[in-house]
Amino acid sequence: MKQPILEIKDLAVSFDTYAGEVQAVRGVSFSLAPGETLAIVGESGCGKSVSMQTIMGLLPSPPSRIKSGQILYEGVDLVTKTDKEMEAYRGKEFSMVFQDSMTSLNPTMRVGRQICEGIIKHQHVSREQAKEIAIDMLRKVGLPNPEQCYRRYPHTMSGGMRQRVMIAMALCCHPKILFADEPTTALDVTMQAQILDLMNDLKKTTGTAIVLVTHDLGVVAQMADRISVMYAGKIVESGTADQIFYNPRHPYTWGLLGSMPSVAQSTNNAKSELMSIPGSPPDLFAPPKGCAFAARCPYAMTACQKVDAETFTADDGHMVRCWLMDSRAPAVTPPVGRAAVRGKEAKA
Ligand code: SF4
Repeated sequence: MKQPILEIKDLAVSFDTYAGEVQAVRGVSFSLAPGETLAIVGESGCGKSVSMQTIMGLLPSPPSRIKSGQILYEGVDLVTKTDKEMEAYRGKEFSMVFQDSMTSLNPTMRVGRQICEGIIKHQHVSREQAKEIAIDMLRKVGLPNPEQCYRRYPHTMSGGMRQRVMIAMALCCHPKILFADEPTTALDVTMQAQILDLMNDLKKTTGTAIVLVTHDLGVVAQMADRISVMYAGKIVESGTADQIFYNPRHPYTWGLLGSMPSVAQSTNNAKSELMSIPGSPPDLFAPPKGCAFAARCPYAMTACQKVDAETFTADDGHMVRCWLMDSRAPAVTPPVGRAAVRGKEAKA
């Protein structure tokens, strides 16, 4: 494996509120190699967006607080950097595409001027040169008539066009990492496919590594080299896309894959109900002592309620945080008919 460009080590982030401490991220570790796409998947509130925004240095403190851990970007620990120092990294070394382009773009400024701000700041060029770079970027992201788009306000553009503007803005200074937080959730299926193709093409031509945050496993199947599955502020399973889709080992991953619609079952006219994961995620004001998934897990054992699972190695680079991987645990047959079949369909 190439030397990682980004290493997150045991990152824990909390929010101090009037009601108490919300432990949003509870010891997350992962690494990212240059040019790689890592997908972070999980339900809303599992801590995936908080992790990304912490790496970008976007969360106000207070109420957020990094309790422990390191964010190593090319060996430099970003946790020790001040807000002012982080400005040299944001937009230049790494940038972010947000879910909702309408609220992420400034409605009072033409899109061209918004793109130029970052170019002038990080590339130290004149306004005229910045305009040329911005128009070239708008052309690269596939916007028709980029000179005219440059002068438009965000509200005069469609959702797909605005998302392309966001991608142009994120990539105009050639960042080494692009964080994409649910970049296609607000788009229709056709536009979603176009944006994913665009991101894949740009990744190939620029070599930018991508961290994709999503709950959509179809999007993950199209984009990811590696996948980390998050639950209640922790990574519960991580591995290559093939390992997660073809050989998932954690009951939560089985649940996520099983909740995807199956093409085979719908074409066979077979009666099929989507699998659901019963219950809801734990309260992160007071996370459970044992495994956070225990209350919803059909395979939970007595030990699961008492002690949080260790991380076991299932295969080369395939890590699973579950007591079922312990040699003393009873053998369990995964729901192959649902989870694995749907996982294989997604990857096909
Ligand atoms: Fe289920 Fe226990 Fe594994 Fe948690 S550790 S996912 S409760 S089997």
